[in-house]
Amino acid sequence: MVDKEIRDKYTIVVGLEVHAQLLTNSKIFATDSTQYGEAPNTNISAITLGHPGTLPKLNKKVVVYAIKMGLACGCEISRYNIFDRKNYFYPDLPKGYQITQDKTPICLGGGIPIKLGNGVRKTIKLNRIHLEEDAGKSMHLEGQTETLVDFNRAGVPLVEIVTEPDIRSSEEAYAVLTEIRKLVKYLEICDGNMEEGSLRCDANVSVMRKGAQEYGKKVEVKNMNSFRNVQRAIDHEAERQILLLEKGHAILSETRTFDADTGTTAAIRTKEELNDYRYFPEPDLCPFVVSDQWLEEISAAMPSLPQELYQKFVERYELPEYDAEVLTDTKEIAAYFEAICLQTQHYKSASNWIMGPVKSFLNESGITMDQFPISPDRLAELIDLVAADKVSFAIASQKVFPYLLQHPQMPAAQAIEKLNLKQDSNTDNIKPLIAEVLADFPQKVQEYRQGKKGLLGMFMGEVMKRSKGKANPKIANELLRKELS
Ligand code: ADP
Ligand code: MG
Repeated sequence: MVDKEIRDKYTIVVGLEVHAQLLTNSKIFATDSTQYGEAPNTNISAITLGHPGTLPKLNKKVVVYAIKMGLACGCEISRYNIFDRKNYFYPDLPKGYQITQDKTPICLGGGIPIKLGNGVRKTIKLNRIHLEEDAGKSMHLEGQTETLVDFNRAGVPLVEIVTEPDIRSSEEAYAVLTEIRKLVKYLEICDGNMEEGSLRCDANVSVMRKGAQEYGKKVEVKNMNSFRNVQRAIDHEAERQILLLEKGHAILSETRTFDADTGTTAAIRTKEELNDYRYFPEPDLCPFVVSDQWLEEISAAMPSLPQELYQKFVERYELPEYDAEVLTDTKEIAAYFEAICLQTQHYKSASNWIMGPVKSFLNESGITMDQFPISPDRLAELIDLVAADKVSFAIASQKVFPYLLQHPQMPAAQAIEKLNLKQDSNTDNIKPLIAEVLADFPQKVQEYRQGKKGLLGMFMGEVMKRSKGKANPKIANELLRKELS
């Protein structure tokens, strides 16, 4: 561990390269299925394997998806596009080259806005987003010396999102990744699943003395399979570099791999060993042009983005920023909230219900919002019944809500009748309960009257308990205060 004092002499500089697999049914240049988890080497046409005489053909949807991402990030969309060959040898690269975009990335510039824990907002600039094909997968099976290769993944469409070296901490890197995953899921262009490798990230890390004019030598770290591990890898790598510099050593430009078990990185190749990829324009594909009309069509079909919804939730529904943040976490949650707001004016209550009972239920049962059984209309009814003092929030969330989960077709009012949980606002019913409680706790009553006002909560608890939770708490509270004073 480096002392904080030493660490504070350095600035950490990070640039991310994020690969996102696009959710198309077929591959980028062939009709083979992109389905994950199929038996090895079943989705491999002659095109995917690069047999002589075969020709790749561009999947149009791939271009649409990349443009959507570009529009969401405020990028400039390249109108004239070519593909390039990136030549290198690797067992899982069937053709001996990868088709990618070197000269004309489909999206240029733009940025990813992030918000940090301390509330600070910052935009991380993007260098580019380009299209390319995924490679196959080498498999090293336990106890076998041979390496197996599965080419099903070869040719699956990818966008590579490359940030500028604008990131200054592992926390910022984590925030960028979170935002990118949120965006691709909103756009429905990638499922964002890091465990299955649909979203992958390499981190370029360097350190420099505070105030230095030039960036330090960068190291590229690979093989992190979660956002948390990206953060750990950056922290470890920055520390390793600082220690080296402090000892007077130089940093080698190299590629390192992250080991999640030890939390450390190890060198896999140095810059000197780096391939010369000998990029050249892919001769088997013709250039493609993004026309004004096509671009307009894609823009018009863009869904609401998290940032826009956040703004709307704060402004139109007057939610606190925190609520707006939580509710725009996924597109499904945001849509559910908006659907409730079509039925009730109690927006903040709707937000509380979603952030509280609904999210707890989703977490406990391991399901997502789109599988949630209670319709937004039904929940809106319940929210209105609470607001109209027909049932208390406590009873509604602890008794009615679980009942509705079992009987999602039943109107909320009917469920309350059925459970005999209608809130009791009749003072003639509540007064005797209060008298009973005060009679049972004479000592406490005396203490209260001598100034121990905190006891009110205990009296309220007793009254509510004896009413089986049905007493209108507002009325019970008023009556109780009156009786006690
Ligand atoms: P290369 O030519 O080595 O591939 P690029 O300039 O294309 O390098 O950048 C690749 C990635 O590395 C980008 O995400 C970029 O932001 C990041 N990067 C570039 N220089 C640095 C640096 N000094 N420190 C950290 N990251 C860097
Ligand atoms: Mg580069």
